[in-house]
Amino acid sequence: MKRLWMALALGTAITAGCYGSEEDMADLVFRGGAVWTGDDAVPSASAVAVKNGRIVAVGSDPDVDHLVGRETRVVELAGRTLMPGFIDAHTHFLDGGAKLAGVNLRDAATPEEFTRRIAEFARTVPAGTWITGGDWDHELWGGELPRKEWVDSVTPDHPVFVNRLDGHMALANSAALRLSGVDSAGRTPDPAGGTIVRDPTTGEPAGVFKDDAMGLVRRAIPGETEADLDRALQAAARHALEHGVTQVHDMAGFSSLETYRRAEARNELPLRVYSVVSIGSWERLRDFVAQNGHGDDLLWWGGVKGFVDGSLGSTTAWFYEPYSDDPNTSGFMTSDSADLRAGIEGADSAGLQVLVHAIGDRANDWLLDVYRDVAAAHGPRDRRFRIEHAQHLSPSAIARFAEQEVIASMQPYHAADDGRWAEKRIGPERIKTTYAFRSLLDAGATLAFGSDWTVGPLDPILGTDAAVTRRTIDGANPDGWMPQEKITLEETLKAYTAGGARAGFVENKVGRIAVGMLADLVVLDRDLMTTDPKSLVDTRVDMTVVGGKVAYERPTG
Ligand SMILES: [Zn+2]
Repeated sequence: MKRLWMALALGTAITAGCYGSEEDMADLVFRGGAVWTGDDAVPSASAVAVKNGRIVAVGSDPDVDHLVGRETRVVELAGRTLMPGFIDAHTHFLDGGAKLAGVNLRDAATPEEFTRRIAEFARTVPAGTWITGGDWDHELWGGELPRKEWVDSVTPDHPVFVNRLDGHMALANSAALRLSGVDSAGRTPDPAGGTIVRDPTTGEPAGVFKDDAMGLVRRAIPGETEADLDRALQAAARHALEHGVTQVHDMAGFSSLETYRRAEARNELPLRVYSVVSIGSWERLRDFVAQNGHGDDLLWWGGVKGFVDGSLGSTTAWFYEPYSDDPNTSGFMTSDSADLRAGIEGADSAGLQVLVHAIGDRANDWLLDVYRDVAAAHGPRDRRFRIEHAQHLSPSAIARFAEQEVIASMQPYHAADDGRWAEKRIGPERIKTTYAFRSLLDAGATLAFGSDWTVGPLDPILGTDAAVTRRTIDGANPDGWMPQEKITLEETLKAYTAGGARAGFVENKVGRIAVGMLADLVVLDRDLMTTDPKSLVDTRVDMTVVGGKVAYERPTG
């Protein structure tokens, strides 16, 4: 009854103009919900109002009612969650967009299925077209690496170069080897930082190329056109918005940065992008910043990304001790150590942000040492060094993230995925400080979560489930794998919002629901805080809002 009276009174008031003019009214109002603000000052609320792309009110339903005008869109949350949009702090965004339209090998669980999918895809593209992407996972069929013979008979006219889901190895067929000029008799040597997998009897390339050896084939693939990249961006953006992601940090290069700039100039960039380029081009980025500044709230740049090592899946992550299941190797540095150090020093001295991939314990320690030395040599500044992945840490490394103010940019879904087989690879001791979310937070580190899409799915709900429950995706660890490293739902959401914002220097603009912040918001179909953690994974995104504009709405019915 009271509500009815309020509504009537409000209606009258608006017509009478007592509540202010129509231009004072909100564009968008959410009410009746479970608002998780991510803001410690006002942790929860039931209503939020948005105007001109910004949040103008946060509170109870009556706090926003006076902002509802004739043109205001009112979203009745009816108990659903409204929270800041997810930030995915590590993606390969345009690769992902291109792959959305390519061959999918991700869940090919047998060699026969692998072959069948490539055969089927080859029939859909003209002869001569390179078949790339794939994201296969040889662990699904027991760990045997694919060989070129698996696909040669179904792709006589299509060069194939399909990658493992971590991007650290790829399979070439015979047509691709011919075009790349790699000697089919096996005379092409392994390049530094890479391996050509060979037939043990003949020494001929067997098809798989690891890490820097992939360049031998990749150089033969014609570059993508601008139109290809523009299409990839739109496909990727749609995919992100459907998953509640309002901002991505993209680990790529200048052609991606230019693609985002074209989209922004045409008013076709529907989410926020921090565009990071390769550390090898730090001088070019320094000059680009001098000329063009750092971008704006929708698209910005100023970070460079390098690599210390490879990946656990490819046994190229760099450890102190040999792999438990491959005692001949401890992994290795995939970059020249002097070059990488010089790149970090140069970029830091130019005021750029440095982000470096480190997976193995030795790689992380090496990088923490370099970061310490560079910070000491160049003096204090708000530099926000990042370690991407920070997957396997020596026990002594954990406290150093907080001490050295290094952001741990991690991907919780990798834990659910690698957790199936990581122990076989690195043994029971090293596994204890793997994906050490709890330990890092307890030590005071900033976590920024992401997907590493397309290595992991671009889906923060799956990542949230992984961080909170630490279940592995094979269902083998229902109560959590290394459960001592579980973190709470709120800690997880912070790593996906404020943590990512901090990692991208935008924590004063997005990542929390507070008055004055840009209105990047997501509506989830349930009250997350009262959901049984085991059902979090069923959560669906109902609406995604970027800068006050509804960018995605789940079709009803
Ligand atoms: Zn990555």
